[in-house]
Amino acid sequence: MKDRPATHTFLQSASPEIAGGKREPAISASHTEVIVCHGCDHYFDSVPCKPGYQLNCNYCGSVLQTHHRNWLSRAGAFTVAGVVLFVMTVSFPFLGLEAGGQQQLSQLLSGVLALLDREQFILASLVFVTIFLLPLVELLCLAFVIAARWFDVKPRGLNAVMQLLFISRPWNMMEIFFISVLITSIKLGDIASLIPGVGLYAFAGLILVLIYTHMHLDRHALWQWLRYDNRFVVSEGDKLAVCHCCDALVSERLSHCPRCQSKVRRRIYDSYQRTLALLVAATILYLPANLLPIMTTVQFGVERTDTILSGIMHLFEAGNFFIAGIVFVASMLVPILKIVTLAYLLWAIKKKQQGSPKRQTFIYRVTEFVGRWSMIDVFVVTLLVAMVQFGVLANVEPNGAIVCFAGVVVLTMLAAETFDPRLLWDAHNDQ
Ligand SMILES: [Zn+2]
Ligand SMILES: [Zn+2]
Repeated sequence: MKDRPATHTFLQSASPEIAGGKREPAISASHTEVIVCHGCDHYFDSVPCKPGYQLNCNYCGSVLQTHHRNWLSRAGAFTVAGVVLFVMTVSFPFLGLEAGGQQQLSQLLSGVLALLDREQFILASLVFVTIFLLPLVELLCLAFVIAARWFDVKPRGLNAVMQLLFISRPWNMMEIFFISVLITSIKLGDIASLIPGVGLYAFAGLILVLIYTHMHLDRHALWQWLRYDNRFVVSEGDKLAVCHCCDALVSERLSHCPRCQSKVRRRIYDSYQRTLALLVAATILYLPANLLPIMTTVQFGVERTDTILSGIMHLFEAGNFFIAGIVFVASMLVPILKIVTLAYLLWAIKKKQQGSPKRQTFIYRVTEFVGRWSMIDVFVVTLLVAMVQFGVLANVEPNGAIVCFAGVVVLTMLAAETFDPRLLWDAHNDQ
């Protein structure tokens, strides 16, 4: 593995392309076996990757390439299973609730409807998009892409569908919703008992199937099949940027990647300023999210209003130490740690600190991965509102803090996506 730019290419002529309404200069398209790391911008010569293995960057640890045997047939089989499980999830009852001789059945989207009834439009949209719309979009995109590859046809718009498939993945939060169902059932322990429906089992199956499909999907092979060229220059000697979506090397003089049509820049546009702005907004929202009440519970005529912290204390006093621990970590610790970590990384870039960029990139990857798990509390409140509607016997209503809290989670997720870890390496190199 060497850190030098590509030189061995096979030049072909290409016609000018129009992207974003602007005429791009004439480009030379070619194929190169050089891979550029997304995390740190080091160049590597591509080496054959054994089936079942993955290649990692030896500077920052980011994944460079993975290879699975029979990936197409496996991903295809999992996608078909996923479509069947999705239909089962929405067609069968999701959860049942039993209390004092009364029974209530709910569907996957009952929580969204209950929130709409209470005019909580922002929260309802967030839950609808993360547990229903994006998983559906992901399945449809997968089916479309795999069918196209299987029959070796390249319909118009295929690159846009592939782009959507890979961009939407982090916003699909089905596994977090599933853990929230388990927490809700324990929280309800003294009010009512929760009965899992066929829909819930199908939902759990769908989560596993989607994880396996993405594990087997060979992105590198798919993009190479769509277009073998992966190096696009206006003239030799152009500075090159790596396309975040399809890994092609694109001249900085081009605004869009000719292979997947996504915007290409050497660094994420205004990464530092945008991350900082999103972090400031998240920090401001963090205060009302923790100080205001998050939900009101009525149980046997007794009303109780909880903030995030008092809810955790209540779980702790009831002896549910494990669940109290999970909610504490997901709702209080993760958001604040995420804000502090991203602020530290921005500071490290600004001050060009001595710290190891490899360790800082690792910290960033961990922060990016755990951030979405804070949605647990938002889903638990949604489930409680949807499930516990027994009039005077028991009732749960959402309060203002839940919207602020959801805002903190979304803003910190956006801040992590806007942050460009290559800036850490730039600061290190400048120094
Ligand atoms: Zn790297
Ligand atoms: Zn691209």
